[in-house]
Amino acid sequence: MAVATRYPTRPLDCWGKLREIRRKYAVRSWDVKERGGFAVAAQLPLMPMVAGIGEFARRIYGPYFGKAMKEPEVLRQFHEAADAEGYPRGEMCSSMHHQIGQMLLGLTQIDPMTGVSRPVDFILECNFCHSVSKTAQIGGEIMGVPFFIIDVPHTSGEAAQRYVSGQLMDAIGWLEKITGRTFDDGKFLEAMTHWWQRGALYARIGETLKAIPAPLDYWQVRALRVPAQVGGHTAEVAEFYEMALDEVRERIKEGISAFGVETCRLSHEGEEMFYADKLLADTVMHYGAVFVTGDVGFNTGLWDIQEDGSWRAAPTLQEMGLTLSTREDAVNLLARSFVDYGPIFHCLRVDEKPTEMVKKSQDWHSQGAVLHMDIGCRGMSPGVMEAKIALEEAGFPTVSYESSNSDPRDFTPSQITDRLESFLERLGLNRIS
Ligand code: SF4
Repeated sequence: MAVATRYPTRPLDCWGKLREIRRKYAVRSWDVKERGGFAVAAQLPLMPMVAGIGEFARRIYGPYFGKAMKEPEVLRQFHEAADAEGYPRGEMCSSMHHQIGQMLLGLTQIDPMTGVSRPVDFILECNFCHSVSKTAQIGGEIMGVPFFIIDVPHTSGEAAQRYVSGQLMDAIGWLEKITGRTFDDGKFLEAMTHWWQRGALYARIGETLKAIPAPLDYWQVRALRVPAQVGGHTAEVAEFYEMALDEVRERIKEGISAFGVETCRLSHEGEEMFYADKLLADTVMHYGAVFVTGDVGFNTGLWDIQEDGSWRAAPTLQEMGLTLSTREDAVNLLARSFVDYGPIFHCLRVDEKPTEMVKKSQDWHSQGAVLHMDIGCRGMSPGVMEAKIALEEAGFPTVSYESSNSDPRDFTPSQITDRLESFLERLGLNRIS
């Protein structure tokens, strides 16, 4: 029977700054054109390069991702719109499926705050997963805007980096052509420096969860990714992560825990349910258990994934002794951030997942793993079943649940909570007050 040791806890001071950054960029996202900038549907890791054309706001295809994930009825409507136009449920990624539905409903370009139409100017995507690149193509056709897709191989090393660098160089030429702007290398170099810094620091925040008790839980670290999503190429956001990392390290020194109790440490593998991301954390919290690893949140950072499967935070530029001076320097570093340091670009490396997931559970001192068999994902879910076997063989008890990261029609809360509660009881845990 696990003993519920009590630890001190308190909220993070940097939540306030996070909200301030999020609000600021939400407004900027919609008035960017009045300020002479561009609205871009771009994959997150391409933000530093887009900064080379000057003022821009990154949007995903539609502005209603957050709203839809909070309101399953709205989300369902987006999926049904895609189904009705011949994009069948279950045959494509649920995350992209709802985005296509949103585009087909014509909502994509409407400012949710004012109802005014503010179209996206172009799409710049990178193919870490075939669903993503196919949606970029379909999105370009539905919205009638130009699109450019960068192919990223699912291997690391110099040849892979050169292959991506060549395409990034082409993309710069394409950006100049479609925007009529001269690409500003100085802005690109600066943005790339901040981008790398925020990725290396964010990964260090993930590493702090190895401490016992964990100073935050995985879902709190995941929530900290918001500034990176809205302005990860800026000095302000790089500074935010410095501040957040200092604060989390201070929590470790003071013995501050995520929730005041830590009866059991758990890993989560597989993409999370965006519309129900509190369900898992809330369920295990009743037993005093804490998630210390996961996918989407950790993938925001830059990680040096070793041959034995262990994840280490990427070195900072200072630690690498690297100063960016030319466009080629920045392009090569961006390419390396994809093929050598970007876990999201590992998502189809099925053979590497079991070893990585076992190493993560070992290194983060996890005592059990919860695995999402995500029928809505074709990229991150392959290999999760093999990882389940490997985890069991390595001595980690596991439980799996079936759902979909973005389609609530495949979500049965009671199936998940029943399985999870039985699993926690199998681990010897009881509900705590
Ligand atoms: S990784 Fe999964 S959820 Fe993400 S785009 Fe690919 S298929 Fe969709």
